[in-house]
Amino acid sequence: MSFQAPKGVSEYYPPRSALFEEARDAFARQARAACYGYVEQPVFEDTALFARGVGESTDVVSKEMYSFADRGGRDITLRPEFTAGVVRAVLEHGLHKGALPVKLWTAGPVFRYERPQSGRYRQFYQFDLEAIGTQDPAVDVETIVLAYDAYTSLGLSQFRLLLNSLGDKACRPVYRQALQDFLRGLDLDDETRTRIEVNPLRVLDDKRPEVRAQLDGAPVIADYLCDECAAHHATVRAMLTDLKIPFEDAPRLVRGLDYYMRTTYEFDHALLGAQSGIGGGGRYDGLSEDIGGPPLPGIGFAVGLDRIVLALEAERPGHTPEVNRCQVYGVPLGEDTEAAVLAIVTELRRAGIRAGMSFGQRGLKGSMKAADRSGADYAILVGQQERQAGLVAIKNLKDGDQHDVPAPNATQWLAQRLREG
Ligand code: AMP
Repeated sequence: MSFQAPKGVSEYYPPRSALFEEARDAFARQARAACYGYVEQPVFEDTALFARGVGESTDVVSKEMYSFADRGGRDITLRPEFTAGVVRAVLEHGLHKGALPVKLWTAGPVFRYERPQSGRYRQFYQFDLEAIGTQDPAVDVETIVLAYDAYTSLGLSQFRLLLNSLGDKACRPVYRQALQDFLRGLDLDDETRTRIEVNPLRVLDDKRPEVRAQLDGAPVIADYLCDECAAHHATVRAMLTDLKIPFEDAPRLVRGLDYYMRTTYEFDHALLGAQSGIGGGGRYDGLSEDIGGPPLPGIGFAVGLDRIVLALEAERPGHTPEVNRCQVYGVPLGEDTEAAVLAIVTELRRAGIRAGMSFGQRGLKGSMKAADRSGADYAILVGQQERQAGLVAIKNLKDGDQHDVPAPNATQWLAQRLREG
């Protein structure tokens, strides 16, 4: 009997997994450069945390959670997103009692029972970054710039930043009411009618053409922002402009999770088809109180690492990351040479050179084939004769040139050649 992975999970293995690592590392580098600390979070939490933190009216909570009772009868859910768990951890461990904002990042799998398709999975991977404990609009901009720089550092350019403000507890209800009045007058199916009453902003997100066509005259939040929210939004826009970060105002941009307020943003990629969102974030100033904490404003983003891999493949076809390739490959020839080769490749690795070797006494032909397959620039050949003379033969696999080099000098010799390219 053979097994397949469950439906809708994404998996990465070489060579493609190198793109995944590259994507995650690019974001981690940005987070570290801006002094965000790393958190490792549980994969499951109490179901109630997400019900309260993310919101009962959202698709994520009402339709997509992997929830179950554990053997002790506790209601458990595999995390469908990171933010609620990160804020829970901050409150539980009192991190908010130190210097503010608390700046944290994490990455890993998240779970949503969605209809799988290209770029949409049931287990997928996010990089997540949060700045908790300030309302300063400059930190909104900090998060946006970090995401923007991570995408561009990966060589991505065919993406847009969409920006909106969702108002706050003062002005959003007024807008919500105006939007509901408008939506109730449209020709919509029953499910969408229910949504108007529960979560009207989500109707703006409807992708169906027959719905979209009716939304043209819908009121936009920008016209309803209170003075504080309008000022906050104006500052964010001005700072992004100063920093030369291109953005588009997206007055209809809403997000699937209830906790967002004020700044809301999304990055979407031009070559990814229907699942074009490569990341999104925003402010969640009410979340801490929703889950029983003190007032503690926050902002953060989550990016879909799976979609970044797809975007990299779309924008950089044929590009193979270096990590998949050995630089040097050791070839033991004959008896009793394996230990000498293992010693040399160990020294190379300690010097930061990616080195592999042939195992299993494959003989010259088999080993040289393996050396070629490894992508190495150089092979190191050690036969009994060389070993006794304290030499190694180093072969340039591109032009076939071969040199005998004293074994103790091999690492230095190769390091220099590899540096010179
Ligand atoms: P969200 O947590 O819904 O704001 O999503 C943040 C990012 O996660 C999105 O911009 C996507 O890049 C990614 N994402 C969300 N849902 C999925 C999914 N089912 N499969 C793959 N990536 C996803």
